[in-house]
Amino acid sequence: MRLAGKTAVVTGGASGIGRATSELFAQEGAKVVIADVNTKGGSEIVESIKEAGGEAVFVRTDVTVPKDAQKMVRMTVEKYGHIDILFNNAGITGEPGPLADLTEENYHHIMDVNLGGVVWGCKFVIPHLKEQGKGVVLNMASLGGITGKRAHDAIYNASKAGVILLTKTLSRELAPDNIRVNCLCPIAVDTPMVQRWPAAARQASAKRIPLGRFCRPIDIAYSALFLVSDEASMITGIALVIDGGFTA
Ligand code: NAD
Repeated sequence: MRLAGKTAVVTGGASGIGRATSELFAQEGAKVVIADVNTKGGSEIVESIKEAGGEAVFVRTDVTVPKDAQKMVRMTVEKYGHIDILFNNAGITGEPGPLADLTEENYHHIMDVNLGGVVWGCKFVIPHLKEQGKGVVLNMASLGGITGKRAHDAIYNASKAGVILLTKTLSRELAPDNIRVNCLCPIAVDTPMVQRWPAAARQASAKRIPLGRFCRPIDIAYSALFLVSDEASMITGIALVIDGGFTA
């Protein structure tokens, strides 16, 4: 019960990494708020957490909309009294392709979800964390925010690089308030996001990873658990690479 007594908000908690993390946080004693645009998926996960003896609630949230992020924070505090952890995890790949083919719509959608979603989540939770004198923010970046090795993902990678520098800057800004801010940088994770890739491309990608496979959602969830727990109380401002040795 490494998160006993804590309340955690997980954006993008209805699928993939967010789902695995919400379930793990609940198993470890946290009350979990699942914030997602996917009402059906989010509600199903709330039910499965409750069936397993945990506590969770779904709050329909579009992370690109500042008012939704504000509501997410307000409803969490109304329901559970406080927020200890915000995991800004929601993200999309958009439509990958050569930059010359990029549309304005695709550009704004990727940036608004992947970077804007983190910005609005932080903006509205920070006053609350400051008031209580402690808290943890964990942001979802990507290995793509560090290396440009995957062609045709320039805007996705740029959005994730933005998340890394936002994280590092906020960690300095908020350290005097006893608020830690870190981010995760996984290589490919076996979720619906990459299950759309052709099977041959997935196999070839997995072979290039020294440990020989993609991450599983639970691998990322365990890293998240460590970083948001009190065990990591001296860790802030890091971008944790989870890549099976790829960048070694
Ligand atoms: P996923 O597609 O399984 O889940 C993403 C979730 O985000 C979905 O539940 C979706 O409904 C939600 N979402 C999308 N737009 C939203 C919005 N505007 N507001 C609220 N929720 C929204 O993907 P995943 O693989 O679990 O990805 C989770 C995060 O991990 C993303 O930020 C992604 O960029 C990052 N990531 C994924 C991989 C990978 O290979 N899967 C690798 C590195 C980083």
